[in-house]
Amino acid sequence: MILEQITMDDFTAGLDKTRTVIIPFGSVEEHGPHLPLGTDTIHVYEVCKEVSNLIPVFVAPPIFYGVCRSTRNHPGTVGISPASLRALTADLVSDLYRQGLRDFLIISGHASGLQLSCLTEVGEELLLKYTDIRVAVLSIVDLAMDGWQDVIVTRDDSHAGEVETSVMLHLRPQWVGEARPQEWPQFPKHLLVRDKLRYWPGGVWGDASQASKEKGVKLFDLSVNALVHLIQDLDGDSDR
Ligand SMILES: [Zn+2]
Repeated sequence: MILEQITMDDFTAGLDKTRTVIIPFGSVEEHGPHLPLGTDTIHVYEVCKEVSNLIPVFVAPPIFYGVCRSTRNHPGTVGISPASLRALTADLVSDLYRQGLRDFLIISGHASGLQLSCLTEVGEELLLKYTDIRVAVLSIVDLAMDGWQDVIVTRDDSHAGEVETSVMLHLRPQWVGEARPQEWPQFPKHLLVRDKLRYWPGGVWGDASQASKEKGVKLFDLSVNALVHLIQDLDGDSDR
């Protein structure tokens, strides 16, 4: 049940089937010279929509903007502050709660540590505020990396490389450019750097030359299956 597609009556009927909602979070950020700025959001949202075709679950509209740190200076990256992300997430969960939802899967297509720490922080606060909810916070990478490792050949592939290029060749081939770059950033250890482009000029972390549409289909299906299982496990476990 995709919220923007259903009616008031569908929503009410849906609450009889499930009290679980997935809230997908993404980013508007550079993904190398070959992938669209909306890659993270498109990826996670398409996985969630497919899951809703398979099991009863609500899917909220995706939050396109995220907290971007290391890609911030690259052209096209448009982010929001951690404070905005925390406030928006708390508002959305609170209003979904008011509408009857009780289990919240907060899943981010943007696997940034800062983004995930903001979402986790809000999740912990919400657990204290509402005593009858459950909250899961995860990235799409956390969700399916174990299975993905059997499909991809690149080690340390995390941004616009083999995984994301493959998935976008499956989901939006018309939006994927010709370039297949290979790059790993060279950030100094521990030090936060102002000039991020100096250490990561191309904005790719991994090897896009290993990508293929066939791998994209497999990676996507692994994510869908992992999310279905996660929801079924939550549904079968009544511990709140
Ligand atoms: Zn990405």
